[in-house]
Amino acid sequence: MNFIETRGNDGQHPQSVTFSEAILSPIASFGGLYVPESLPTLGQEFLEKHLESNYKTMAKDMLTRFEIDIDESVIDEALALYDKFDDPKNPVPVVKVKEDLYVSELYHGPTRAFKDMALQPFGKVLSAIAQKRNENYLILAATSGDTGPAALETFKNRANVQVACLYPDGGTSDVQRLQMVTEDAENLKVIGIKGNFDDAQAALKKLLASQSFKAELKTKHISLSAANSVNFGRIIFQIIYHIHSYLELVRQEAITMGEKVNLNVPSANFGNLLGGYYALKMGLPVNKLISSSNENNLLMELINTGTYDLRGRKLQVTTSPAMDILKSSNIERVIFDLYGAQRTRELMADLDEKEVYTLTASELTKLQSLFSADQCEGEAGKAYIKSVYENDGYLMDPHTATSFKAYENMPKDGLKTIIYSTAEWTKFSPTIAEALTGEAGAKDIDALKTISEKANIAIPSMINGLFDKKITQDSVIEKEDIEKVILAFL
Ligand SMILES: *Cc1c(COP(=O)(O)O)cnc(C)c1O
Repeated sequence: MNFIETRGNDGQHPQSVTFSEAILSPIASFGGLYVPESLPTLGQEFLEKHLESNYKTMAKDMLTRFEIDIDESVIDEALALYDKFDDPKNPVPVVKVKEDLYVSELYHGPTRAFKDMALQPFGKVLSAIAQKRNENYLILAATSGDTGPAALETFKNRANVQVACLYPDGGTSDVQRLQMVTEDAENLKVIGIKGNFDDAQAALKKLLASQSFKAELKTKHISLSAANSVNFGRIIFQIIYHIHSYLELVRQEAITMGEKVNLNVPSANFGNLLGGYYALKMGLPVNKLISSSNENNLLMELINTGTYDLRGRKLQVTTSPAMDILKSSNIERVIFDLYGAQRTRELMADLDEKEVYTLTASELTKLQSLFSADQCEGEAGKAYIKSVYENDGYLMDPHTATSFKAYENMPKDGLKTIIYSTAEWTKFSPTIAEALTGEAGAKDIDALKTISEKANIAIPSMINGLFDKKITQDSVIEKEDIEKVILAFL
């Protein structure tokens, strides 16, 4: 199957590209994104067939139906990476929390956040494509905390790929920083920037646009690529776990086959909920797709009012930092799917030029027939962490907590809801410890112990071990020196 462009074709780019091409060069005409020309229909036949299958078997069948240009052996190796998760047979446990509420835990991979779900197989696939073409790629990443560790983990020691990862020094949690600076593979470079996440991201954008940098890379026969979530190579792996979660509810006899459910996702760049949208389009029985935001609530405003308005908005630093974003990229793919390429181009041009776009009343009705949205601020999130722990015995992180608020605020429709949990408690322990004990300001190492004792759960070894691991990546530099440092690494 080929991939087409959300903003139409500019006569410079090809009319359509293969999956590999969409992965290597994810930006399409007019700054748009690639989307599948059509989606395979799965329907009840597929669900019945995989009721007894394990995750990998179902995933492989789904990927096969996409007819992507990736060798079968590569797909097998990519999916085998789910064997590194806590339970190889079921990498995504789905847990009952209330009579009508289930939590699908996406964080049982090597870096304890949901980024592993897509980045683990994606790293294998990208490296295999590069090897097959006999090309070398530099992956540039700027991270506020979760993408960096997951990208480093998946690309470490992979052939034909090097990674340079920028993080704001002092702007991540201790655990997130240690996950990055203790990576010792030779193809990885981790660079702390004196500044905040915006500075790191701006530095990255500058580098991506720098002609001198690209010329230098060319002399070294290296091309640039990105591993951020606009890459369809990540999105495709995020459809699978929505189907899996549905099947888990059938297996647990929470629903009967064909019964509709609500999917409720803590959203930022919207890759996770986009996967749910595609699953719905492919035939998964879904009633509503629910997006929860934190204080940075532009997605909620779009879904509730039809206007995406960046004017005068400043990024708020919150207790759910992986959701701190103003410009959410993947909503564009939904807009394309609902209103077509010409309209998408118009709306995205409005956003670029006027920092705002507004849907028509009928467009908004269409969006709201599928999506609902809510927001949850930090203090309310902490209250949910405490009350859900005390009343339901379920421990969750501050990102997941935003979806609990959305769940409570949605009109009761008698259907089961699946909340997607995007991080383990170990990654945001100071906030969780504060929620549970009322005491603020603990460092990660102490907060981990507090929660572990209070909730009587062990700290996973890959988190505990971080505090004793040797720091191998100690660059903390000024923004101006990034290009020089990366070129020296290459
Ligand atoms: C990346 C991330 C999100 C947001 O996911 P999107 O796919 O960008 O919407 C939410 N929570 C955590 C913990 C994350 O790491």
